[in-house]
Amino acid sequence: MTRGFYIGRFQPYHRGHHRVIEQIAAEVDELVVGIGSADQSHTLDNPFTAGERMVMITKCLADLDLVTYVVPIEDINRNSVWVSHVQAMSPTFDVAYSNNPLVIRLFEESNIDVHQSPMFEREQLEGTTIRDRMRQDEDWRELLPDPVVATIEEINGITRIQHVADTDKSGRADPE
Ligand code: NAD
Repeated sequence: MTRGFYIGRFQPYHRGHHRVIEQIAAEVDELVVGIGSADQSHTLDNPFTAGERMVMITKCLADLDLVTYVVPIEDINRNSVWVSHVQAMSPTFDVAYSNNPLVIRLFEESNIDVHQSPMFEREQLEGTTIRDRMRQDEDWRELLPDPVVATIEEINGITRIQHVADTDKSGRADPE
């Protein structure tokens, strides 16, 4: 039995992430999806809470022939012990999946096997691009799996992003 570990911020979980997981599913029996920066939300870069991201991802994984665990992982201010922190929060795993250079480096220094995956349509399947489209009321739905679109609509996520952007510009977050 092989268990993999795939970490991301998933702000939001998009079709590129899902393509990666579909490929991983062919290589492992079980997969842990780590929601990184779980402590972050309500900012332009990290609009969605860990709980909201758990809903998005859990619903997208439901149709895959794969045992999955979705685990929130908060950031810690010390890269050198981050892998131990991940291991403390996650079921044990045999192989990690990431294209993030820092993540790869930290796992490899801890002697954990890391597999990289191809990037899919990176010019548009990229968190910053998707959040920019949401902020500017441009088309974003086509870039996300349907359960993610439904979750964002249910929580009124676009209004949140636009409000946070507005607050960042006007400084209204600091009431007098
Ligand atoms: P991400 O959501 O940007 O990406 C997740 C993975 O998907 C990455 O491997 C990325 O390369 C891949 N991906 C993105 N778009 C893709 C596409 N179109 N096609 C195929 N693959 C695609 O998340 P991330 O930034 O890699 O997440 C790493 C997390 O680990 C962050 O939350 C970070 O804070 C956390 N971290 C924390 C520490 C610490 O706390 N000290 C240290 C290292 C990492």
